[in-house]
Amino acid sequence: MGRYIGPACRLCRREGMKLFLKGTRCYMSKCAIDKERNPPGQHGARRRKLSDYGEQLRAKQRLRRMYGMQEEQFRVFFEKALKQRGVTGERLLQMLELRLDTVVWRLGFAVSQRAARQMVLHGHIEVNGRKVDIPSYQLRPGCVVQVRGREHSRQLAQASLDQVASVRKSDEVVPWLSLNRDELKGEVLHVPSREEIQPVVNEQQVVELYSK
Ligand code: SF4
Repeated sequence: MGRYIGPACRLCRREGMKLFLKGTRCYMSKCAIDKERNPPGQHGARRRKLSDYGEQLRAKQRLRRMYGMQEEQFRVFFEKALKQRGVTGERLLQMLELRLDTVVWRLGFAVSQRAARQMVLHGHIEVNGRKVDIPSYQLRPGCVVQVRGREHSRQLAQASLDQVASVRKSDEVVPWLSLNRDELKGEVLHVPSREEIQPVVNEQQVVELYSK
C-alpha cells in the first residue's frame, strides 16, 4: 500500500487524538480535535464499543501514523525491538524517538514529522559531520545532528525554529536532547526513558497485537 497523501487532520479525527501532523496549526484553535470534530465518514458520529482487538489495532495505527510510517516498515521496527533486551514496547518507542526525522522534529528544525522527513530526504541534515538522507536512520547517545551549512538549509531550519517558538509555551527541547540554536545543532544526550516520551499510546497493546 502506498503512502497516505490525504488530509492529515482526518487521521487525527479517526484516532480521536492529536497526532501533531500539521505543525503549528496543531497548537492553534483551528485544530479539528480541539473543535471536537467527529471521526470521519458518514457514520463517524456513531459511538461503538471497540473489542480488545479493535483497541490494539487503534493503538498500533496511532503510533504508526504519528511517526509517519508504513505498515511494513513499522513491522520491521517492531521485529527489531523484539530482538533487543528490555521491555519490547518501551524499546519500540525509544527506536521511534531515535529516528533521525523524529529528532529533527523534536529539535524544532522542522514544524512536523512530515516536514522533518522531507528535510532529511532533501539532504539538509548531517549527523556527526556527514550528510545523512535516511529518515529512519537510528541515532545513538552522543550523535550530533546539524543543519548543513548551505544558506537554503539554514533558512529553512531557522524559519521552523521561529514558527515553533511562536506556538510552544517554552523554548526548551525534550530533556534527552540538547540544542544550540545559533549553530543549528543538537545532540542526543541519552536514550529517552519511557517517562520522557509522551504517553502517546499504550504500547503494550501494540505488542499484544503483533504477538497474536
Ligand atoms: Fe491533528 Fe494537527 Fe490537524 Fe489537529 S491540526 S487535527 S493535531 S493534524
